[in-house]
Amino acid sequence: MNDTPVLRGVEARVDGVQTRDGAGVRLTRVLGASLQRRLDPFLMLDAFASDDPDDYIAGFPDHPHRGFETITYMVAGRMLHRDSAGHEGLLEAGGMQWMTAGRGVVHSEIPQQESGRMEGFQLWLNLPAAAKMSQPWYRDFSAAELPRLRTAHGAEAVVLAGSCHGVQGAVTRDATAPLILDLHLDPGSRFELPLPAAHNALLYVYRGEVEIGGQGVAQRTMAVLDNRGDALRIDAPQGARALLVAGQPLGEPIAQYGPFVMNTEQEIYQAVNDFRAGRLGG
Ligand code: MN
Repeated sequence: MNDTPVLRGVEARVDGVQTRDGAGVRLTRVLGASLQRRLDPFLMLDAFASDDPDDYIAGFPDHPHRGFETITYMVAGRMLHRDSAGHEGLLEAGGMQWMTAGRGVVHSEIPQQESGRMEGFQLWLNLPAAAKMSQPWYRDFSAAELPRLRTAHGAEAVVLAGSCHGVQGAVTRDATAPLILDLHLDPGSRFELPLPAAHNALLYVYRGEVEIGGQGVAQRTMAVLDNRGDALRIDAPQGARALLVAGQPLGEPIAQYGPFVMNTEQEIYQAVNDFRAGRLGG
């Protein structure tokens, strides 16, 4: 046994790509198609943050998904979700919505405000091949329902998924073991946790900046963490807020066409056909 954990370092820093999606929502695609294999089991991470209603007001009207899960976390603002499986939920500041598209849902995500700040994230988590055609599932969690932990070193973590320092998060998944933490780091704070080397991991800094292994990670930057250690240490000399996302890779083929993520082209044709025939959210 080695008493000293080997710390994971920063392999790459990524700014993401400015784009619009849905009916014109302005966002930064931090994790896109080119990083899907590197960050398996995560397929996408979008960050949105704006005080200008023109950037978000149109929202995401009815659209389909199949083959993965979407996790939406709101920092500021309110968004209403409705889907073809009969789920409806109002997502408010500090809350999380977890939707398993499975074999298919058609849903809408519409802002419930005409002014003020809208800020948050949407993360796509892949499903193992055996679960891609599973029953859709949905749950929303208010800020008060999300487990939190506070360390002696001035760090607080909202445990959205997985477990950390003995605190079980809101959602757990066996196949991909996702760990999703919203970190609130006071100035001068440090946050440490074990992180299995085989699990792919990223940190997106959305306020302030942090240091990992002596390397700075600036605001609105994603650090892709290397897989050479089994623990992570984050320092925040000036304070920061960041999303830590880690999970066990599936190692399965990824076939994506827009909102459908399957394992083969044939399954993608099937998804498109099912959607056109009205069978996807049926
Ligand atoms: Mn969607």
